[in-house]
Amino acid sequence: MTRTITGATRVAGVVGHPIAHSLSPVLHNAWLEAAGIDGVYVPLEVEEARFGEFIEGLRATSWAGLNVTLPFKRNALAAADNAHMRARRAQAANLLVFRDGRITADNTDGLGLLVAFAEQAPGFDPKAGPVVILGAGGGARGAAGAFLDAGCPEIRVVNRTLVRAQTLAAELRLKAFDLRDAEAAFEGAQAVINATSAGLADSETLDLPLAATPAACVVMDMVYKPLLTPFLAQAQALGRPTVDGLAMLIGQAIPSFEAIYGEQPPAGVGVRALALKALGL
Ligand code: NAP
Repeated sequence: MTRTITGATRVAGVVGHPIAHSLSPVLHNAWLEAAGIDGVYVPLEVEEARFGEFIEGLRATSWAGLNVTLPFKRNALAAADNAHMRARRAQAANLLVFRDGRITADNTDGLGLLVAFAEQAPGFDPKAGPVVILGAGGGARGAAGAFLDAGCPEIRVVNRTLVRAQTLAAELRLKAFDLRDAEAAFEGAQAVINATSAGLADSETLDLPLAATPAACVVMDMVYKPLLTPFLAQAQALGRPTVDGLAMLIGQAIPSFEAIYGEQPPAGVGVRALALKALGL
């Protein structure tokens, strides 16, 4: 069925650089169509130096909302008039909601991570034991906040640049480890989450002693291109249960859609199958 765009259509989208391969338009437009909402969701590529100008321009329009991806998540938080605690704690925003010329920032990445665990590792209980987060950027911060909110008793942050892990650990009362000491961090962990950008297609891969984790430890990778990263493949070869980054992407899109369009996305749309098709899988 073809949707008709009218003067009343609510317009939202996702901004990044690059943006052509974003899956967010696939997810949001499928939900909009299934829900019969008069809305459209578009990809927007913006020059890196012109993000501030771009946001100020949107402020003057009837724009409904914006998801934000690399490299603009920190800029998005700075451009907002106010921010949810989740975005302040992550020092990054993946969602800007526009209302009456004012912009509110949020970070739904951590919520998406918990949705991904609930879907692909249903036996996992955040309250049951230590969780290891690899990385100390916005993704890691969002994850740490979500696990803290979910009652996780101990979070270990492991990063290549130790001082960044220490800064995050001091802020949120976590434990900091150097990436070279990952084996010690893995001891007794009930989940390990890769929130580094290592593993992205064509970038460096992580080579860590995952065998030091308990047999039931859930291993998750935020990277979803490729869907089966070398890190997840290593975990699966060791027999560890895994959670993929696409489940997190879909998980963060659910509260984003609700914030932008004012209702939950409809159930049963099969957005994962659509996203897998868009990934060529
Ligand atoms: P970021 O702020 O740029 O942080 C990148 C982190 O990766 C830093 O901790 C950095 O360590 C580390 N790192 C980069 N290359 C590394 C390498 N070769 N070895 C070890 N550590 C390395 O990025 P971000 O926004 O947190 O995003 C991190 C990843 O999560 C990205 O791949 C992003 O696409 C993904 N992500 C996915 C979702 C989803 O929905 N699936 C949501 C959010 C983020 P240093 O501090 O030492 O530089």
